[in-house]
Amino acid sequence: MQTTDSQKVPSVYSRTNPFPARIIKNVNLNGAGSSKETRHIELSLEGSELSYVPGDCLGIFPSNDPALVEAILAIMKWDPATEVVVNKQGDTLSIQDALLNHFELTLLSKKIVQQAAEFTDNEELKKLVSAEQAEQLKEYIDGRDLLDLVQDFGPWNVSAQDFVALLRKLNARLYSIASSFAANPGQVHLTIGAVRYMSHGRERKGVCSVQCAERAHEGETLPVFIQVNNHFNLPEGDKDIIMVGPGTGIAPFRSFIQERAVTKAAGRAWLFFGDQRSSTDFLYKEELEGYMNDGALTKLDTAFSRDSEQKVYVQHRMMENSKELFAWLSSGAYFYVCGDKKNMAKDVHNTLIDIIEKEGAMSREEAEAYLNHMQEQHRYQRDVY
Ligand SMILES: Cc1cc2nc3c(=O)[nH]c(=O)nc-3n(C[C@H](O)[C@H](O)[C@H](O)COP(=O)(O)OP(=O)(O)OC[C@H]3O[C@@H](n4cnc5c(N)ncnc54)[C@H](O)[C@@H]3O)c2cc1C
Repeated sequence: MQTTDSQKVPSVYSRTNPFPARIIKNVNLNGAGSSKETRHIELSLEGSELSYVPGDCLGIFPSNDPALVEAILAIMKWDPATEVVVNKQGDTLSIQDALLNHFELTLLSKKIVQQAAEFTDNEELKKLVSAEQAEQLKEYIDGRDLLDLVQDFGPWNVSAQDFVALLRKLNARLYSIASSFAANPGQVHLTIGAVRYMSHGRERKGVCSVQCAERAHEGETLPVFIQVNNHFNLPEGDKDIIMVGPGTGIAPFRSFIQERAVTKAAGRAWLFFGDQRSSTDFLYKEELEGYMNDGALTKLDTAFSRDSEQKVYVQHRMMENSKELFAWLSSGAYFYVCGDKKNMAKDVHNTLIDIIEKEGAMSREEAEAYLNHMQEQHRYQRDVY
């Protein structure tokens, strides 16, 4: 007998009981010579009864860099097998396992540094946490991690148990799902940008993104859960959609387009994509061109900031197409933005108001009210981070 959606067995997996999803594929989407590394990861959800809709996110519980854990253990001179209690329920792990999988090591807080000062006679640290040094303490924690702290202010006189009591629990990281479940039953795809940067003379690695780039091999598993996102989803199939997703912001739109291709949606779809260089950073280029050819994508505008002397970003492409973009909005199109919160989302937001003002012959206030109204109708949706 066939099971219908309403008869679907509920999954036993959730944030509190993550599913070990097998890695089917893990490839770098950037070409040789790119300054970026963006991983396309395919995971199997088979046997989990988990499913999702376009717009949802996947949570991953990461583990810390083994080299970082080893360096901390060596400085603190703890036996890696020493058992420590890791939570209020009294669960225990070896200190090595606890540092690898249970505690956040890459972010310092004032509180951690202040409490750590109790465990050393180091005068410099005592001075740093004194009331008069508030500014210096703030400056110290910026861009430093636990390894810096234990390296900079020894010798330490603390048990592994007392030390882990200072630490915060390692949190799950969220990723916009980059696939449609209808197009890829039993699978979930992600687009993850590896976070790497230099700080205080050492290369720093984002916990989850670099684990996915360096230590998540095909055949291994990652603990995952589905994070439903009711504020970011596709409208009925006959509605037009405009999607602005530079860099990893492309992820949910790959899901949207795949879904619309499978359901043969009647509405038009317009994608703005951008990154540094077209030769190395045009993520999912062939797929997107394929969708242009078969009609799932109506329009594709790209902006590659380092291809020309003058940096061109997605908001510039929007402005170049202002008349058509406003015509789409006027006929009821939904407008979506995903990706960088700090700069891109603000620039796109302001450009959208500029376009409405210009093409709608409105005052600034009227243009803002127009966009607010779109937001109330759920026709302006953002998934930014
Ligand atoms: C709803 C949502 C959806 C998301 N979707 C995606 C997605 O599809 N793809 C994707 O790649 N990411 C996505 N993210 C971001 C993702 O969740 C992680 O935040 C990201 O991968 C970094 O996690 P990490 O564990 O690698 O880095 P962490 O170990 O958490 O380190 C990141 C931290 O490092 C610091 N940092 C980073 N760069 C620098 C720098 N240059 N200089 C100094 N400090 C710096 C900042 O404090 C930053 O918060 C999404 C986030 C949200 C909330």
